[in-house]
Amino acid sequence: MALYAELHRHLGGSVVPRVLWRYFERHATDLISRFSEYSEFEDFYTRPRNTLDEYLELHTLVESVQTVETLPYFIYRLLRGAYIFENLAYLELRYTPYLRTPEHLSQNERIDKMAEIVEVVGKASHLPEYPIVTSQILCMHSRLPFEVNRAIIDLAAQNRQYVCAVDVAGGDRYYAERMDEWISLYNYARSLGVKTTGHVYETTDGCYPQLLPYLMRIGHGIQIPLLYPELLPEVARRKQCLEVCPTTYLKTGTLQDIRQLKLVFDRCFAAGVDIAICTDNAGLHNVRLPFEYETLLTYDIINFQQLQACQEAAFRHAFAWPHQQHPVSLLNGLLNVESEQFLAVQA
Ligand SMILES: [Zn+2]
Repeated sequence: MALYAELHRHLGGSVVPRVLWRYFERHATDLISRFSEYSEFEDFYTRPRNTLDEYLELHTLVESVQTVETLPYFIYRLLRGAYIFENLAYLELRYTPYLRTPEHLSQNERIDKMAEIVEVVGKASHLPEYPIVTSQILCMHSRLPFEVNRAIIDLAAQNRQYVCAVDVAGGDRYYAERMDEWISLYNYARSLGVKTTGHVYETTDGCYPQLLPYLMRIGHGIQIPLLYPELLPEVARRKQCLEVCPTTYLKTGTLQDIRQLKLVFDRCFAAGVDIAICTDNAGLHNVRLPFEYETLLTYDIINFQQLQACQEAAFRHAFAWPHQQHPVSLLNGLLNVESEQFLAVQA
């Protein structure tokens, strides 16, 4: 048995199409009236988009139904699937809490409501029947004003039992016009001791070397080894881990062929930069974490030894994994004790 850590999964993109379809059937049939059957919906929901912007549009469909009332419904199904089908021992779930608050409220009222969302997600993520260590990453958003993003950092600092870090998301081409704000927000997060990751170097529009010093992990970051390999020694020195999500780059039109990732892995291994393999939006892609692993092996992008190195890196760079070791050593201890007892009974 292998147990995995998932470091980059969006709450909005984590709902598999079948669960979303069932939810619409039960509660919001108007949203699926244009599809005559499930397979049409699945095709619409999972098909590749031309750009990152088009792809991110789909998140709004799910965000619209993920409210304080419905979040436990979706999170229960997410954890059940992650435990049963993905062997996850650890999951960091990320989202922008502001976008789960009611749109008709004022900005200040919506900011005040965010704490409730974090608590609901935190409580819903604790399921004794599907035991996975979970924590939340709160995403600042490129389209949200400074005050909201700053409130998201405050919320992360005030809810450490549920939240392990902050991120920035929402399309990496939009950071440039407010770069000073992002730097000051990340400085603020670090000053409060909040851990950091950020969606950068995902597309060729998202390459911001000035943000790199503030990040403890790099969301995607594939353009660093592809286009700016001269930055890799610095990334290695800072012990920053790349969160690489293979299926995403095909769905967003960022890469044309998954084999282009071979250069990403080869250059990172050579430079001593860790990679955690992640799903990003496992539901939207309909691709679970073990299949991401298998695809990389199938296309000879990595070998088994490199896969295991990435799986171990995921636990090492996890912001809230509570144990010193990777679960393989915990399991070894557990299984060895049992086999000794079994031998004793036999004797
Ligand atoms: Zn992402």
